[in-house]
Amino acid sequence: MNATDDLYDLIIVGGGPAGATATLYAARRGLKVLLLDKARFPRDKVCGDALSGKSIAILHELDLLEQVRQLPGAPIRTIVFGSPAHDEVRIEMSRHDHRDLLTGKVLPMGGVVIRRQILDAFLFGEARARATACLEDFAVQDLIFAEGRVCGVRGQDRSGEKREFRGRLVLGCDGFNSIVARKTGYYQHDPRHSLVALRCYYENIADLKDQIELHYVDEVKPGYFWIFPLENGGANVGIGMMHEHLKKRGVNLKEALRQVISRPPFAQRFAQARPLEEPVGWNLPVASKRRRIHGEGFMLLGDAGGLIDPFTGEGIGNALYSARLAVETAAQALEAGDLSAAFLSRYEERLWEALSDELRTSTRLQQIGQYRPLLNMVIRKAARDPELSDLICGMIANAVPKKTLTNPLFYLKLLFR
Ligand SMILES: Cc1cc2nc3c(=O)[nH]c(=O)nc-3n(C[C@H](O)[C@H](O)[C@H](O)COP(=O)(O)OP(=O)(O)OC[C@H]3O[C@@H](n4cnc5c(N)ncnc54)[C@H](O)[C@@H]3O)c2cc1C
Repeated sequence: MNATDDLYDLIIVGGGPAGATATLYAARRGLKVLLLDKARFPRDKVCGDALSGKSIAILHELDLLEQVRQLPGAPIRTIVFGSPAHDEVRIEMSRHDHRDLLTGKVLPMGGVVIRRQILDAFLFGEARARATACLEDFAVQDLIFAEGRVCGVRGQDRSGEKREFRGRLVLGCDGFNSIVARKTGYYQHDPRHSLVALRCYYENIADLKDQIELHYVDEVKPGYFWIFPLENGGANVGIGMMHEHLKKRGVNLKEALRQVISRPPFAQRFAQARPLEEPVGWNLPVASKRRRIHGEGFMLLGDAGGLIDPFTGEGIGNALYSARLAVETAAQALEAGDLSAAFLSRYEERLWEALSDELRTSTRLQQIGQYRPLLNMVIRKAARDPELSDLICGMIANAVPKKTLTNPLFYLKLLFR
């Protein structure tokens, strides 16, 4: 349906994973939704393209998992962690089921890598079909306020035509550069709480299997180099690190990527490989600090709220969690007729309740990742000790509390294993 001047329950700005999923949850609740994106789908998004436990659980809840698994991509059954000293531990995901903390779903572990151009177009298509109205090629440029509360958006389409829309609530799902965050004064770009990463699609890399590989390399510390398989022998290759350290050490990520793939142990695997593009970079606002993500008449979701995991760089799962919880709160707020920041604080509380243990652990791991000897020791021991690698697998699956990994006793015990 075309966008009209009607009053919408929700205006969702941005149709990436956060916005598309929020639209789908809102449609299930019968809310009147306007979905806006400045791009026309399919569009690219710089990403590692990997979907893991949380994303799988939410897609399952939305009855989309089977269709997503049919999209061109690669199934993942193993995670490989490589140390700076080049030891490798393989975590076989079939050892545990994944217990999802938000949906309560218990599903076989195992992820999938799907190019975002494909995944996002699929999710956006599903959302467009269920939204009350949807506009692509429409860039939101400003917010409309009434009595100090956000009550709409204004922007323009590709032809330059300007339009305004009114909504009871506005959800900012517009990524790292979020206009909703900027216009409400919530935008932050703090190098201590962000990563920078490059992606480059490749073909013909040797020894690709159904595994994602994260290698903690000396060129980017703290950070990692990744190789994720794709359909037809392709791969998503990338490198990323904390922005603060990148600035301090003057690291050139393109050069770091070039160095890593041209030295042992990777040079051999890249001998016949061919890059399919110039490396492209983007920012990852991470949740190593709690940010305020709600205000009068609006909520921020996904990257707009800085929700990426600081250790793994994964943001899609948290974006989907934020969509589920923001829409739950929005429905309650609309029913109560209370769109105040005080009411919407439920969203933030519920999200942090669900994520804070994991985020605290990831923040500690990011700090630990700066200590080369510690990384070398943990990965070397885990590579040789099935009990330890099983424990790590259990943590990824939420079968064992993740905070075990941040307990100093854990490392002391490791020393004597
Ligand atoms: C190099 C790299 C590797 C990564 N690897 C992974 C990974 O393997 N797995 C993982 O889970 N996460 C990964 N991430 C993080 C992940 O990409 C993000 O967390 C995820 O895209 C967040 O989704 P989102 O919907 O919040 O935002 P986005 O995906 O950024 O979507 C925002 C949408 O808003 C639209 N928009 C923006 N501004 C406006 C506007 N003014 N008006 C209208 N529309 C607008 C955009 O067109 C876009 O469609 C990676 C990130 C990077 C940079």
